[in-house]
Amino acid sequence: MKKTSLRFLQAHTNMASIIDDLAPNVFGEEHEAGKIPYSLFVETVEQVPIAISITDKKAKILYVNEEFCRVTGYQAEDVLGKNESLLSDKSTPRNVYYDLWHTISKKQVWRGKLCNRHKSGQRYLADLTIAPMLNEQGNITHYIGMHRDITQSYESEKQLINQKLLIESVINSSPIAMVVIDNQDKVILDNHMYKALVSDLDKGEPADYFLHLLRAELGDLWSELQRNEQGFDNREFRIEGKGQRRDRWYSCAGNWFVENEVNVDAFFESNSKQYLILTITDITRQRRQMEELHIQTLKTIMSEDERVRSIRETLLGAMHQIQMPMNQIRAAEQILRHKRDDQNTGLLQILLQIQQSGEEAIATMQKCIPEVLQTTVIPVNLNQILHEVLLLNHQRIWSKGIEVHWQPLSQLPTMLGSENRLRTLFKQLIDNAIEAVSVNSTNEQRLKITTSADADLIYVCIEDSGPGIPVEKRSKVFEPFYTTRPIGGHQTGMGLVMAKEIVNQHQGYIDIDPDFDQGCRFKISFPQNRQEIRRLL
Ligand code: FAD
Repeated sequence: MKKTSLRFLQAHTNMASIIDDLAPNVFGEEHEAGKIPYSLFVETVEQVPIAISITDKKAKILYVNEEFCRVTGYQAEDVLGKNESLLSDKSTPRNVYYDLWHTISKKQVWRGKLCNRHKSGQRYLADLTIAPMLNEQGNITHYIGMHRDITQSYESEKQLINQKLLIESVINSSPIAMVVIDNQDKVILDNHMYKALVSDLDKGEPADYFLHLLRAELGDLWSELQRNEQGFDNREFRIEGKGQRRDRWYSCAGNWFVENEVNVDAFFESNSKQYLILTITDITRQRRQMEELHIQTLKTIMSEDERVRSIRETLLGAMHQIQMPMNQIRAAEQILRHKRDDQNTGLLQILLQIQQSGEEAIATMQKCIPEVLQTTVIPVNLNQILHEVLLLNHQRIWSKGIEVHWQPLSQLPTMLGSENRLRTLFKQLIDNAIEAVSVNSTNEQRLKITTSADADLIYVCIEDSGPGIPVEKRSKVFEPFYTTRPIGGHQTGMGLVMAKEIVNQHQGYIDIDPDFDQGCRFKISFPQNRQEIRRLL
């Protein structure tokens, strides 16, 4: 026995009478089979690190152990003979006590949490178990109460819950969609904005959709970043609009983190799991603003380009017009010279003067022809150029009610070329198509643009539902100053000449599809990334 204190003797005496009542056959001499020395039992209960009290049927305290005194701050002599209610803080709701007594008086064990008051006046939270002790007849003689002070763990748990709630409310109030994904691509946590994406995008689980795009874009880099727990950001994706929905843009950023497993399996063997925090920002507004700015710039460039082109066309047209009578004068002069007739000397002189002033006029005009704007040759994405040209024409297409079928090949290879010239080319062809479908507005007004590719070539097809070009005129439309439209309009008949020139400069090929009879279909093809194009432009 550890020590023979007054408190212990008292406890010992109390306990002896209780135990005698309850378990007369449990104790015996040391080493007696199936029995333990009574002193050992008392010593164990006394030193066990849980607050134990034994009461009578009315909760009058008959025995308390050392831990009880430590937890409550009371000495045994302070509490023996008093009711357990001495410990109550009086803030525990009455229904809890009702439930407690209702349970234990039915000979059942009650478990619960009560708010107790330490002798010093300080509140603590008690995790209490009360078990009835029955005699041989099965009647309750005593109650045994066992409790622990769980204030600290309760406060830590509450703090954790509060922190979690705080983090959740911060995440939820974020204007950015956030999602935590485990290494099986399963969504573990998400916020309100992410949930809104589910319906906005209409692509199933948005996390799956963006993970697919990110993996495709980053390739091998994805696993490397994941292995090294390196984040990524500013990965932008365009999601094509369907029907009334316009295109949308999203920017993705991600960070990996490792969390230690909390289940029992990882108690001795630490186990960890990797997660990805993916943030998805809707940058549609910014992208639209940028695009509008870009289109404004393009409009300025194109209108300057068009001005230069129209001056060139006017001057070339005038030179072409002068050239015809000049040729006739030159022929007349040759005839007169041949005749060697003195009578015609005066006329010959006049013809020579006309010729000279005509040539001077042509030379002056030649000098006035403005240079075509300088251009740079870079890898060009034709989808991008065609998309821009459609945006440039958006107002016209929309006001005329033309139905546009835009079918770009995703992942179209690039080609070397001049963005400006190719834009001028497609603007010309699309302008022509819009003009053609507007001729008869009662018919279906349709414009279809597709891009495709094979191993060597990139193809663009521009098709309209207009009146088409008669077979006999198809080869002529690429000749200078030829137009199928009424004379006197603003057409000069140089548009397709210029278009063909641009296609040639890019070593491409342009033709009118002979098999298409529901309008007009221009088929253009370009070689992929031919270096010699640099010399031609
Ligand atoms: P009380 O008047 O004591 O009781 C409130 C209600 O409990 C009553 O309305 C009645 O319905 C019911 N009740 C009370 N006594 C009995 C009874 N003998 N039989 C049937 N129903 C009864 N309370 C704590 O606050 N903290 C503790 O740590 C704690 N430990 C306990 C340990 C044991 C072993 C037992 C048996 C009880 C313990 N109690 C404890 C309960 C305590 O005895 C009181 O019931 C409680 O503290 C409420 O006290 P009170 O003075 O506010 O109300």
